[in-house]
Amino acid sequence: MRPTLALLFLGVSLSNAADAPLRALLVCGGCCHDYAKQSVLLRDGIQARANIQVDVVVSSDGSTKPYFPMYENKDWAKGYDVVIHDECAADIKEMPYVQNIVDAHKNGVPAVNVHCAMHSYRTGTDVWFSFIGLQSSGHGWKKPIDIDFSAAEHPITKGLANWTTIDEELYNNLKVFDTAKPIVMGSQLQQKGNKDTNVVAWTNDYHGTRTFSTTLGHQNETVSDDRYLNLIVRGVLWSCDKLNPTYLKAYSGPNGKFETLPAKGAGAAADPLKKKP
Ligand SMILES: [Zn+2]
Repeated sequence: MRPTLALLFLGVSLSNAADAPLRALLVCGGCCHDYAKQSVLLRDGIQARANIQVDVVVSSDGSTKPYFPMYENKDWAKGYDVVIHDECAADIKEMPYVQNIVDAHKNGVPAVNVHCAMHSYRTGTDVWFSFIGLQSSGHGWKKPIDIDFSAAEHPITKGLANWTTIDEELYNNLKVFDTAKPIVMGSQLQQKGNKDTNVVAWTNDYHGTRTFSTTLGHQNETVSDDRYLNLIVRGVLWSCDKLNPTYLKAYSGPNGKFETLPAKGAGAAADPLKKKP
Protein backbone atom coordinates (compact mmCIF):
# COMPACT_ATOMS: atom_id res chain seq x y z
CA MET A 1 0.00 0.00 0.00
CA ARG A 2 2.67 2.40 0.97
CA PRO A 3 4.38 2.77 -2.44
CA THR A 4 0.96 3.13 -4.10
CA LEU A 5 -0.08 5.86 -1.70
CA ALA A 6 3.25 7.58 -2.11
CA LEU A 7 2.88 7.56 -5.90
CA LEU A 8 -0.68 8.78 -5.59
CA PHE A 9 0.38 11.75 -3.50
CA LEU A 10 3.31 12.40 -5.81
CA GLY A 11 0.93 12.35 -8.78
CA VAL A 12 -1.45 14.82 -7.17
CA SER A 13 1.36 17.12 -6.18
CA LEU A 14 2.91 17.11 -9.67
CA SER A 15 -0.44 17.76 -11.28
CA ASN A 16 -1.06 20.77 -9.02
CA ALA A 17 2.39 22.12 -9.73
CA ALA A 18 1.78 21.91 -13.48
CA ASP A 19 -1.52 23.79 -13.18
CA ALA A 20 -0.25 26.45 -10.80
CA PRO A 21 -0.04 29.90 -12.36
CA LEU A 22 3.30 31.63 -12.60
CA ARG A 23 3.73 34.67 -10.41
CA ALA A 24 4.94 37.89 -12.04
CA LEU A 25 5.76 41.26 -10.54
CA LEU A 26 5.14 44.26 -12.80
CA VAL A 27 7.00 47.39 -11.71
CA CYS A 28 5.78 50.59 -13.41
CA GLY A 29 6.36 54.27 -13.00
CA GLY A 30 8.37 57.37 -13.71
CA CYS A 31 8.73 59.89 -16.42
CA CYS A 32 6.96 60.50 -19.67
CA HIS A 33 4.36 57.71 -19.92
CA ASP A 34 0.85 56.93 -18.72
CA TYR A 35 1.83 54.25 -16.23
CA ALA A 36 -1.45 54.36 -14.32
CA LYS A 37 -3.11 53.10 -17.49
CA GLN A 38 -0.27 51.00 -18.92
CA SER A 39 0.14 49.02 -15.70
CA VAL A 40 -3.47 47.85 -15.98
CA LEU A 41 -3.22 47.24 -19.74
CA LEU A 42 -0.15 45.07 -19.26
CA ARG A 43 -1.52 43.17 -16.26
CA ASP A 44 -4.85 42.43 -17.92
CA GLY A 45 -3.25 41.72 -21.31
CA ILE A 46 -0.82 39.21 -19.82
CA GLN A 47 -3.39 37.51 -17.60
CA ALA A 48 -5.80 37.16 -20.55
CA ARG A 49 -3.15 35.29 -22.56
CA ALA A 50 -1.06 33.32 -20.09
CA ASN A 51 -1.54 31.45 -16.84
CA ILE A 52 0.27 34.13 -14.89
CA GLN A 53 -0.91 36.11 -11.89
CA VAL A 54 0.56 39.60 -12.20
CA ASP A 55 1.18 41.65 -9.06
CA VAL A 56 1.61 45.36 -9.78
CA VAL A 57 3.62 48.07 -8.06
CA VAL A 58 3.12 51.41 -9.80
CA SER A 59 4.62 54.72 -8.76
CA SER A 60 2.64 57.94 -9.20
CA ASP A 61 5.94 59.81 -9.43
CA GLY A 62 6.15 61.22 -12.97
CA SER A 63 9.75 62.39 -12.62
CA THR A 64 12.89 60.58 -13.77
CA LYS A 65 13.40 59.45 -10.16
CA PRO A 66 10.51 57.14 -9.25
CA TYR A 67 11.50 55.50 -5.98
CA PHE A 68 10.49 51.93 -5.08
CA PRO A 69 11.25 51.23 -1.41
CA MET A 70 11.28 47.48 -2.04
CA TYR A 71 14.52 47.81 -4.02
CA GLU A 72 16.32 48.71 -0.78
CA ASN A 73 15.82 45.07 0.18
CA LYS A 74 18.08 42.49 -1.46
CA ASP A 75 15.25 39.92 -1.38
CA TRP A 76 12.78 42.19 -3.18
CA ALA A 77 12.00 39.66 -5.95
CA LYS A 78 11.59 36.66 -3.67
CA GLY A 79 8.59 34.50 -4.50
CA TYR A 80 8.26 35.71 -8.10
CA ASP A 81 8.89 33.62 -11.21
CA VAL A 82 9.57 36.71 -13.31
CA VAL A 83 9.78 40.50 -12.95
CA ILE A 84 8.60 42.90 -15.64
CA HIS A 85 10.48 46.19 -15.49
CA ASP A 86 8.45 49.08 -16.91
CA GLU A 87 10.16 51.91 -15.06
CA CYS A 88 11.33 55.20 -16.55
CA ALA A 89 14.02 56.20 -14.10
CA ALA A 90 16.98 57.77 -15.92
CA ASP A 91 18.19 59.74 -12.90
CA ILE A 92 18.23 57.01 -10.30
CA LYS A 93 21.88 56.12 -10.00
CA GLU A 94 22.32 55.32 -6.33
CA MET A 95 24.07 52.22 -5.07
CA PRO A 96 23.41 49.73 -3.66
CA TYR A 97 19.82 50.40 -4.80
CA VAL A 98 20.50 49.72 -8.51
CA GLN A 99 22.82 46.84 -7.67
CA ASN A 100 20.04 45.24 -5.62
CA ILE A 101 17.74 45.32 -8.65
CA VAL A 102 20.14 43.53 -10.99
CA ASP A 103 21.43 41.16 -8.31
CA ALA A 104 17.97 39.61 -7.95
CA HIS A 105 18.19 38.71 -11.64
CA LYS A 106 21.82 37.64 -11.43
CA ASN A 107 20.64 35.26 -8.73
CA GLY A 108 18.14 33.64 -11.07
CA VAL A 109 14.88 35.58 -11.35
CA PRO A 110 14.03 36.06 -15.07
CA ALA A 111 13.18 39.54 -16.30
CA VAL A 112 11.26 41.27 -19.05
CA ASN A 113 12.20 44.88 -19.74
CA VAL A 114 9.80 47.23 -21.46
CA HIS A 115 10.41 50.48 -23.36
CA CYS A 116 11.79 53.16 -20.99
CA ALA A 117 13.36 50.53 -18.73
CA MET A 118 16.13 50.66 -21.33
CA HIS A 119 16.75 54.34 -20.51
CA SER A 120 16.69 53.89 -16.74
CA TYR A 121 19.35 53.65 -14.05
CA ARG A 122 22.09 55.57 -15.87
CA THR A 123 24.72 55.02 -13.24
CA GLY A 124 27.64 55.91 -15.51
CA THR A 125 28.60 52.22 -15.60
CA ASP A 126 27.34 49.10 -17.40
CA VAL A 127 25.58 47.75 -14.30
CA TRP A 128 22.11 48.21 -15.76
CA PHE A 129 22.93 47.92 -19.48
CA SER A 130 24.77 44.61 -19.11
CA PHE A 131 21.66 43.26 -17.43
CA ILE A 132 19.50 44.61 -20.27
CA GLY A 133 21.97 43.36 -22.92
CA LEU A 134 21.74 46.51 -25.02
CA GLN A 135 22.55 50.13 -24.39
CA SER A 136 20.31 52.84 -25.81
CA SER A 137 20.54 56.56 -25.16
CA GLY A 138 17.52 58.05 -26.89
CA HIS A 139 15.16 58.19 -29.82
CA GLY A 140 14.09 60.55 -32.60
CA TRP A 141 10.63 61.64 -33.58
CA LYS A 142 7.48 59.61 -33.12
CA LYS A 143 6.56 57.89 -36.37
CA PRO A 144 5.25 54.44 -37.30
CA ILE A 145 7.73 51.57 -36.95
CA ASP A 146 7.71 48.58 -39.32
CA ILE A 147 8.18 45.52 -37.12
CA ASP A 148 10.14 42.67 -38.74
CA PHE A 149 10.00 39.29 -37.05
CA SER A 150 11.83 37.53 -39.85
CA ALA A 151 15.35 38.72 -39.00
CA ALA A 152 15.99 35.82 -36.62
CA GLU A 153 14.35 32.52 -35.78
CA HIS A 154 13.33 32.33 -32.16
CA PRO A 155 10.57 30.61 -30.15
CA ILE A 156 9.30 34.02 -28.94
CA THR A 157 8.56 35.29 -32.45
CA LYS A 158 7.53 31.97 -34.01
CA GLY A 159 4.21 32.40 -35.82
CA LEU A 160 4.05 36.18 -35.28
CA ALA A 161 3.28 38.30 -38.35
CA ASN A 162 5.08 41.53 -39.21
CA TRP A 163 3.09 44.70 -38.49
CA THR A 164 3.42 48.45 -38.44
CA THR A 165 2.90 50.43 -35.25
CA ILE A 166 1.20 53.79 -34.85
CA ASP A 167 3.51 56.73 -34.05
CA GLU A 168 6.15 55.22 -31.76
CA GLU A 169 9.70 55.82 -30.56
CA LEU A 170 12.54 53.94 -32.28
CA TYR A 171 15.25 53.65 -29.63
CA ASN A 172 18.83 53.85 -30.86
CA ASN A 173 21.32 51.03 -30.27
CA LEU A 174 24.61 52.32 -28.85
CA LYS A 175 25.89 48.89 -27.94
CA VAL A 176 24.63 45.32 -28.21
CA PHE A 177 26.35 43.15 -25.62
CA ASP A 178 27.83 39.76 -26.60
CA THR A 179 25.32 38.04 -24.31
CA ALA A 180 22.35 39.50 -26.20
CA LYS A 181 20.54 38.00 -29.16
CA PRO A 182 18.58 40.44 -31.35
CA ILE A 183 15.32 38.85 -32.52
CA VAL A 184 13.11 41.69 -33.80
CA MET A 185 14.07 44.65 -36.00
CA GLY A 186 12.20 47.92 -36.41
CA SER A 187 12.46 50.42 -39.28
CA GLN A 188 11.32 54.02 -39.16
CA LEU A 189 11.45 56.93 -41.59
CA GLN A 190 13.83 59.64 -40.33
CA GLN A 191 13.62 63.40 -40.71
CA LYS A 192 16.36 63.37 -43.36
CA GLY A 193 14.26 61.05 -45.50
CA ASN A 194 16.30 57.90 -44.84
CA LYS A 195 15.11 54.87 -42.88
CA ASP A 196 16.79 53.74 -39.68
CA THR A 197 16.64 50.07 -38.74
CA ASN A 198 17.37 49.13 -35.12
CA VAL A 199 16.98 46.15 -32.83
CA VAL A 200 13.63 46.56 -31.05
CA ALA A 201 13.45 43.23 -29.19
CA TRP A 202 16.11 40.81 -27.98
CA THR A 203 16.98 38.25 -25.39
CA ASN A 204 19.90 38.36 -23.01
CA ASP A 205 21.80 35.76 -21.02
CA TYR A 206 22.52 37.53 -17.76
CA HIS A 207 24.81 35.23 -15.81
CA GLY A 208 22.61 32.30 -16.82
CA THR A 209 19.28 34.10 -16.25
CA ARG A 210 17.00 34.63 -19.22
CA THR A 211 15.76 38.12 -19.99
CA PHE A 212 13.62 39.46 -22.81
CA SER A 213 13.41 43.15 -23.70
CA THR A 214 11.56 45.34 -26.15
CA THR A 215 11.97 49.05 -26.71
CA LEU A 216 8.43 49.25 -28.12
CA GLY A 217 5.56 50.51 -26.00
CA HIS A 218 5.44 54.28 -25.66
CA GLN A 219 1.76 54.78 -26.47
CA ASN A 220 -1.20 53.30 -24.61
CA GLU A 221 -2.63 52.27 -27.98
CA THR A 222 0.49 50.21 -28.70
CA VAL A 223 0.56 48.65 -25.25
CA SER A 224 -3.08 47.58 -25.65
CA ASP A 225 -2.53 46.21 -29.19
CA ASP A 226 -3.06 42.43 -29.43
CA ARG A 227 0.08 42.07 -31.55
CA TYR A 228 2.17 43.86 -28.93
CA LEU A 229 0.70 41.94 -26.00
CA ASN A 230 1.25 38.61 -27.81
CA LEU A 231 4.94 39.48 -28.16
CA ILE A 232 5.22 40.52 -24.51
CA VAL A 233 3.46 37.40 -23.26
CA ARG A 234 5.63 35.09 -25.34
CA GLY A 235 8.70 36.90 -24.01
CA VAL A 236 7.52 36.58 -20.42
CA LEU A 237 6.86 32.85 -20.78
CA TRP A 238 10.11 32.21 -22.66
CA SER A 239 12.11 33.99 -19.96
CA CYS A 240 10.58 31.53 -17.47
CA ASP A 241 11.23 28.59 -19.85
CA LYS A 242 7.44 28.04 -19.90
CA LEU A 243 6.57 29.02 -23.46
CA ASN A 244 4.24 26.06 -24.05
CA PRO A 245 0.48 25.34 -24.41
CA THR A 246 0.15 24.61 -20.68
CA TYR A 247 0.84 28.25 -19.89
CA LEU A 248 -0.51 29.85 -23.08
CA LYS A 249 -4.00 30.01 -21.64
CA ALA A 250 -5.79 32.69 -19.67
CA TYR A 251 -5.22 33.03 -15.94
CA SER A 252 -8.53 32.41 -14.21
CA GLY A 253 -7.74 33.26 -10.59
CA PRO A 254 -8.27 36.50 -8.69
CA ASN A 255 -6.16 39.57 -9.35
CA GLY A 256 -3.06 39.82 -7.18
CA LYS A 257 -1.59 42.79 -5.35
CA PHE A 258 -1.99 46.23 -6.91
CA GLU A 259 0.05 48.80 -5.01
CA THR A 260 0.16 52.46 -6.00
CA LEU A 261 3.05 54.39 -4.49
CA PRO A 262 2.60 58.12 -3.85
CA ALA A 263 4.27 60.75 -5.99
CA LYS A 264 7.39 62.35 -4.56
CA GLY A 265 6.42 64.69 -1.76
CA ALA A 266 2.90 63.30 -1.49
CA GLY A 267 3.92 60.69 1.04
CA ALA A 268 6.53 60.02 3.67
CA ALA A 269 9.06 58.75 1.13
CA ALA A 270 10.05 62.13 -0.31
CA ASP A 271 13.28 61.47 -2.17
CA PRO A 272 14.68 59.07 0.43
CA LEU A 273 17.60 58.24 -1.85
CA LYS A 274 19.04 61.68 -1.09
CA LYS A 275 20.04 60.46 2.33
CA LYS A 276 22.57 58.17 0.70
CA PRO A 277 26.06 59.58 0.43
ZN1 LIG B 1 8.45 56.62 -24.50
